[in-house]
Amino acid sequence: MTARGWSPDSWRAMPIRQVPEYPDQAALAAMEGKIARFPPLVFAGEARRLRAALARAGDGEAFVLQGGDCAESFSDFTANVIRDTFRVLLQMAVVLTFGGQVPVVKLGRMAGQFAKPRSSDTETREGVALPSYRGDIVNGPDFTAEARIPDPARMEFAYMQSAGTMNLLRAFATGGYADLHHVHRWNLGFVARSPLAERYADLATRIDQTLNFMQACGMSDLPQVRETDFYTSHESLLLPYEQALTRIDSTTGDAYACSAHFLWIGDRTRQPDGAHVEFLRGVKNPIGMKVGPSMDAGELVRLTEILNPANEKGRLTLISRMGADKVEAKLPALVRAVRDAGRNVTWLCDPMHGNTTTVGGYKTRAFDAILEEVRRFFDVHEAEGTVAGGVHVEMTGQEVTECLGGAHRLSEADLSANYATTCDPRLNAEQSLELAFLIAEELKA
Ligand code: PEP
Ligand code: MN
Repeated sequence: MTARGWSPDSWRAMPIRQVPEYPDQAALAAMEGKIARFPPLVFAGEARRLRAALARAGDGEAFVLQGGDCAESFSDFTANVIRDTFRVLLQMAVVLTFGGQVPVVKLGRMAGQFAKPRSSDTETREGVALPSYRGDIVNGPDFTAEARIPDPARMEFAYMQSAGTMNLLRAFATGGYADLHHVHRWNLGFVARSPLAERYADLATRIDQTLNFMQACGMSDLPQVRETDFYTSHESLLLPYEQALTRIDSTTGDAYACSAHFLWIGDRTRQPDGAHVEFLRGVKNPIGMKVGPSMDAGELVRLTEILNPANEKGRLTLISRMGADKVEAKLPALVRAVRDAGRNVTWLCDPMHGNTTTVGGYKTRAFDAILEEVRRFFDVHEAEGTVAGGVHVEMTGQEVTECLGGAHRLSEADLSANYATTCDPRLNAEQSLELAFLIAEELKA
């Protein structure tokens, strides 16, 4: 059933933030029409399966690992980049599953994570002001007037890149790459030279032994060993694109956003009467909402009612992104309000977006602050009797130098060595794996 008063374009009547100014509205409309005829990237049944998995995480029976680039980029569209991010997510997932003894729901910020909200409409460099970069689906990152003009043709390329990425992810997830028998091989070259190598090898050996034991018992061909479930997600920001990929599911008659399995609303566009909330309230996918330090408890409960009127488990994931220094002051009242209102949600911790600083001209994040926010998030849920359902991180399988600290103690002077992100700083593969080991300890505690 469609939500009351909702249609795929009802968001157009609501106040909207973070909209690109397309100079050619006719070209934009033509592109929307074109994408509306493209095949969907995901199917409703898959989205429903993810919703059920997220419901289990909300009940403490699974743990969500959501991760990937801050912004995917057209120039990084290669099999190696996709494979390396997927591989680190697999490694993190086995660490969490084996260490934390809990099933892990794998959700990539991949195959569609292109549109970016910005704190300012313009960016100024050396006295020159240009429109801000809003992600490759909107405009280009180069600091030239031409690159910064929003171009609807970019939506088509973003769709094609999402389709290609999704195709490879599906092949990796079910075609043998994710087979647990390959757990030793997933380790990336530069991580194999790191202080974490031994720890990972030890865990991989224990998994091998377990699989050998299972095989000896005649249990080797379980599909759970040979393949994995992998889902995609991105911020539902560029609504003309999201509307164009909305489809009616033939089995239920419900509307699904078919650009990804899971879409979330960012912290800048979560106004209860705004366009982004309006669009997502009507699609049946599992959805998320970022919850930052300016969120008010009453408003949060109201948003849970708007976005999940039937109070279904797994439908709504709240992604807390407070900052290590604010989480203890801000999160308990919000968790309590949602709990006391009886609202079913799955709480995740995004320890990235509240911990961004600028050092020597580089936007960065300290590994210790990231870890501290995760720990305090667990503590709050422990104290309130609620469930810490998972984490949401910005990471990559590449050997980048964007976040400070970690086992290799990346310093301020190291940031320039390979600072590659077009938007926010990501954990590199080694830092991601290290974080997974430390979170597994929290899960065991
Ligand atoms: C993001 O996830 O990249 C992002 C912009 O987050 P937030 O909405 O929490 O600021
Ligand atoms: Mn980001």
